[in-house]
Amino acid sequence: MTEVKKKHPTIEELLEVLKRLFPGADLDMVKLAYEFANLAHQGQRRTNGDPYITHSLTTAMNLTTMRADLNTIIAGLLHDVPEDTSYTIADIRKNFGDDIGNLVEAETKLGTLKYRGMERYVENLRKMFLAISKDVRVILIKFADRFHNLETLDALPPDKQKRIALESMEIFAPIALRLGMWETKGKLENLSFKYTDPDAYAWVTQLLETTSPSKEKSLAKVMKILQEKLAEQPNLRIASIQGRSKHLYSLYKKLLRHERDISKVYDLIAVRVIVEDVSECYAVLGIIHQLWKPLRGRIKDYIAQPKPNGYQSLHTTVFVGPGEIVEFQIRTQGMDDESYYGVAAHWYYTEQGKPKEGLKMNNPKFAWVNKLLKLQKEIQDSTEYLESLKVDVFPDNIFVFTPNGDVIDLPDQATPVDFAYHIHSDIGNHCVASRINDKLMPLSTPLKSGDVIDIITDKKRARPSPDWLQFVQTRTARERIKFEINRSRRLFGIFNKKA
Ligand code: MN
Repeated sequence: MTEVKKKHPTIEELLEVLKRLFPGADLDMVKLAYEFANLAHQGQRRTNGDPYITHSLTTAMNLTTMRADLNTIIAGLLHDVPEDTSYTIADIRKNFGDDIGNLVEAETKLGTLKYRGMERYVENLRKMFLAISKDVRVILIKFADRFHNLETLDALPPDKQKRIALESMEIFAPIALRLGMWETKGKLENLSFKYTDPDAYAWVTQLLETTSPSKEKSLAKVMKILQEKLAEQPNLRIASIQGRSKHLYSLYKKLLRHERDISKVYDLIAVRVIVEDVSECYAVLGIIHQLWKPLRGRIKDYIAQPKPNGYQSLHTTVFVGPGEIVEFQIRTQGMDDESYYGVAAHWYYTEQGKPKEGLKMNNPKFAWVNKLLKLQKEIQDSTEYLESLKVDVFPDNIFVFTPNGDVIDLPDQATPVDFAYHIHSDIGNHCVASRINDKLMPLSTPLKSGDVIDIITDKKRARPSPDWLQFVQTRTARERIKFEINRSRRLFGIFNKKA
């Protein structure tokens, strides 16, 4: 099988992109970082045989698509230097300053435990939370690095392929989602999908190949009609109209919810209209409904009622011809930016690495980042910091871990009993004690993000304790406990009658 090798960006190409993104910025530091990394990685090759510097350049280039600031992009060029070469963090700090030095250091700490068994894996995840809380830009480098590692996964042995892909799908993608980075989440899932479930991947790819040409044709027609109609309204400021196809993996998940029938997936291809302000969003919605008849129950106003993660847009699905359906998404540029870049859309730095005036993270959705930053400034010692990490990284949910590294998502204030029922009702019903981070702790202890939970069960335990109802947070746990208590009461009742 011959495979076309993907072309890697050159430093010249990177500089071209940066000139466009940061007009007037001094790019000498970027050139220096490239030369430094090139020298440091000299003679090293990736598993696929490419010179190592191709990875540094691709990581930096990936960062330019995530709205990272210049220092983060430079740190992207340098991110593997301390781990894989004879140069140290101190060398980087000396040459490139503290901000870049700190980013590379945090990134290196995050990377040193990779792919080395499950115990280390759990530790690695905890470090990831710590890193995000210190400086969210570190996770951007991790994503950019991971994109390229996933793209070059073919060179690795199958067991490693699967593990890296699963880790990306189950850990990285949900984190991207929490950070509001939809595009990054979709990309991580798409790149991993091929390795986590090759058969399903082949099926969806093929399905899409057979259906999309006809869809694209009708889409072009629809976009032309809309464009002409909108042009008749001189007051409407339309920034862009684009046709977009659904991410492969989210299409797959949707197909599973619809009996694997692609004709039931209405947003296979969507048209996205970007306008200047909110009132124009509603005006465009009205025009679309004048042109085409909307499907009942498919008009969604996520502007008046944003999704819990903050996503805002108007959605409507309309009939554009007999049996032909198209979804429209209408939003402002700001809403669009946020759905692409998430936290980074707010996390805007100037070339000096200082937050731009007026572009601070004032969105309540990301308040947790600020909280953690403040906490981190107050506490310098990192071990103490880990202990004090009581503020949840994610506001309404916490992430905790099973002893072998599975991530469990629970509501705030959840306890080991919630955790036990989340794993299995049998484990919930028979749990007698819990170990949190290797320490025996009461079953009522509120858990916090990063905790590793080990549930101790005893088959002799007859039924759950009614006391647990005082502190459980999840509906599953509450219902299972009530059910078991009622059941044993009923049994007990029958037994009494007999006696
Ligand atoms: Mn790397």
